[in-house]
Amino acid sequence: MKRIITFTLLICFLLSGCTKQNSKLTKTVLAMDTVMTLTIYGGTEQHMDEAGQLIKELDDLLSATKDSSETNLINTSHGASISVSDKMMHLIRRSVELGDSTNGALDITLTPVIRAWGFLGGDHRVPDDSELQTLLEKVDYSKIQTGDGTVALPEGMEISFGAVAKGYAGDLLMELFSSQGIESAIVTLGGNVQALGLKPDGSKWNVAVQDPFSDGTLGMLQVDDKAVVTSGGYERYFEQDGETYWHIIDPATGKPAGSGLVSVTIVCDSGVTADGLSTALFVMGLEDAIEYWKTNGGFDAVLVTDDGSVYVTKGIAGDFEPENGQMQIIE
Ligand code: ADP
Ligand code: MG
Repeated sequence: MKRIITFTLLICFLLSGCTKQNSKLTKTVLAMDTVMTLTIYGGTEQHMDEAGQLIKELDDLLSATKDSSETNLINTSHGASISVSDKMMHLIRRSVELGDSTNGALDITLTPVIRAWGFLGGDHRVPDDSELQTLLEKVDYSKIQTGDGTVALPEGMEISFGAVAKGYAGDLLMELFSSQGIESAIVTLGGNVQALGLKPDGSKWNVAVQDPFSDGTLGMLQVDDKAVVTSGGYERYFEQDGETYWHIIDPATGKPAGSGLVSVTIVCDSGVTADGLSTALFVMGLEDAIEYWKTNGGFDAVLVTDDGSVYVTKGIAGDFEPENGQMQIIE
């Protein structure tokens, strides 16, 4: 009898252990102008609350439209050097590095131009060439000066993090979940997906890549411990006089990037790198994007051109299944 009780207790213990390991918690957060869904396995409500707080804190810190944000503090500093938080410092440094490596295709000082098109609050409109030329005089990320915990931005220039903030949020969420002892988690932050580890059953996560031409799926991607970030012209745009104007802007012209790419998905260890590169490679176009991948490496990509062709870098070719079975592998 004693044996049976011990055995029963053991089974109960094992079962409850398993349940805890695999228990799934999901939370939806509205922040950074988008819907965010967080899923963790084997964590608690408190872990989730901490994640929600982290997102809110980041949104308050980085937003270009909140008066009290650190971004706005920098933008209204009239050229003075000001002290900033470690998070702000990190994000500016990484954005500047990505600006350098992409030859300026990513430029966090594009803010006045983004605003002129109505992509930073306000109404959508088409600015004329002379307005854009004047605004572009205030665009040049290389003029951002960083010191030991300080940032100085020339008078009249403004930074914003629309192209990298969600990716950075993904990185910080993965860091937080890890520190909480969670081994399995996935977050969807608008078009960004980031996964910690494998699924609780030990298999890879399935991430759907959106078809830029429809509401459907372009293909399924299997990943573990990676960020999967898509930039697409279809995500935010407006139409005027039969023309479509989207929110990804070429810093060389101040106009929506017309590179021939309609969607760029980056798969990478780092969310902020994936986010920055998805925007930058969209601006570059197919040829330069492939060249960038060959020269720099450290990530994989799914690139879709305006004629519907799908190009996949070889590192993920075996993990990507296109809906229509067609893709070209970049070696
Ligand atoms: P999403 O916000 O839809 O995920 P992206 O990551 O591509 O898409 O970021 C696009 C946003 O980044 C735009 O809404 C704009 O605020 C900003 N942006 C647009 N073009 C650039 C650029 N070339 N460099 C830096 N930021 C940009
Ligand atoms: Mg981006």
